[in-house]
Amino acid sequence: MPIDPNRRSFVPTDAAGHFPLQNLPYGAFRPAPGAPVRIGVAIGDRVLDLAAVTDAGVLEGPAATTRAFHAPSINAFLGLGPDGWADARARIAALLAEGNAAWLDDPRFTAPPLHDRAAVELVLPVDIGDYTDFYASRQHATNVGTMFRGADNALLPNWRWVPIGYHGRASSIIVSGSAVRRPSGQRKAPDADAPTFGPTRQLDFELELGYVVGVGNPLGSPVSVAEAPGHIFGCVLVNDWSARDIQAWEYVPLGPFLSKNFATSISPWIVPLDALLPFRVPAPPQDPAPLAYLARQGDWALDIALDVAIATAAGRAGGRPAHRIARTNASTLYWDIAQQLAHHTVTGCNLRPGDLLATGTISGDAADSRGSMLELSWRGQEPVDVGGGEKRAFLEDGDEVVMTGTCEGHGVRLGFGEVRGTIVGA
Ligand code: CA
Repeated sequence: MPIDPNRRSFVPTDAAGHFPLQNLPYGAFRPAPGAPVRIGVAIGDRVLDLAAVTDAGVLEGPAATTRAFHAPSINAFLGLGPDGWADARARIAALLAEGNAAWLDDPRFTAPPLHDRAAVELVLPVDIGDYTDFYASRQHATNVGTMFRGADNALLPNWRWVPIGYHGRASSIIVSGSAVRRPSGQRKAPDADAPTFGPTRQLDFELELGYVVGVGNPLGSPVSVAEAPGHIFGCVLVNDWSARDIQAWEYVPLGPFLSKNFATSISPWIVPLDALLPFRVPAPPQDPAPLAYLARQGDWALDIALDVAIATAAGRAGGRPAHRIARTNASTLYWDIAQQLAHHTVTGCNLRPGDLLATGTISGDAADSRGSMLELSWRGQEPVDVGGGEKRAFLEDGDEVVMTGTCEGHGVRLGFGEVRGTIVGA
């Protein structure tokens, strides 16, 4: 779908901001502390209250959409499918279009239709039934494999054939801004005879792209690569917090368990896949060619610039901005999101509206494009400059990790906002 950079909203949208009329991401919010959760769309520095505008009759549409906009999560809306999403998106864009602000004075309003984005409390926008995390970055898999098994054994023989993933934990997915308590568990130094129990000494972040399932599939009915994008509603930023010492001891033979189940943070605004379509680019070549059921169908790599910054407690006290430690791009992923979703369902596994799938840590080729502390500090051997003369091997209590994602091109810039979280002591 072509993007029209000249369409603007009557709500001021900063050219350097993330939420122009071409974005219109969905979120959930409380307009005041303790108030019921409502569904909204971000535009500039404001939030459009979808229940308020449907109640007042200024946003019309199918009854199912109106009902869905009165739910405390976006799941019912997800179940409407691509036609329902497109219809609502077009109506909301028209409502917010430049020159169309007169409806704000409609006497039928019983609740404010627009809120200051900074004044509302953002909550998880979606009830996430299941969470699956892939391992789709070749550079990340190679870096971790090198550290855990040595350079000769870095990329295991299955990696170029199978989009590696595991079933994660949905209950501990939290919205941006939530604190993350340092987990405790078993840690064993390589030269120790036995493990000890205590707070992780190697707490880490993982920079990932998440995508929210819109339309599910019945049990027993695989989704093909070609069909997969039609099942994806939109994308969020994901910080898949990880405890590396716990992980290194527990991951054989079944993969991560407690090292990743204590918290996963997501950005609060779900950017519709529709808004990201203009930013599709070719993904890296695949060699060997994937098996037929996994063959790529069109370009589904997404040109999303991703940044990670850290604000230490001392830095915040001193008024220093968060210090950028990594920058990479989601387009570098080896397995694209359509391939990941198709692979997930090839057994007939059923996805449901609101399931969250994530790509795994996104690392590029350059040393400063690595999406985890593990890689940036090379397992602690090369501490990372986090500004103000401070260095980090892994995260310390009080550190705040801030991730952002933006798309630029076609005369438009749009973004994901951010996902942030601060570490609190065990
Ligand atoms: Ca992960």
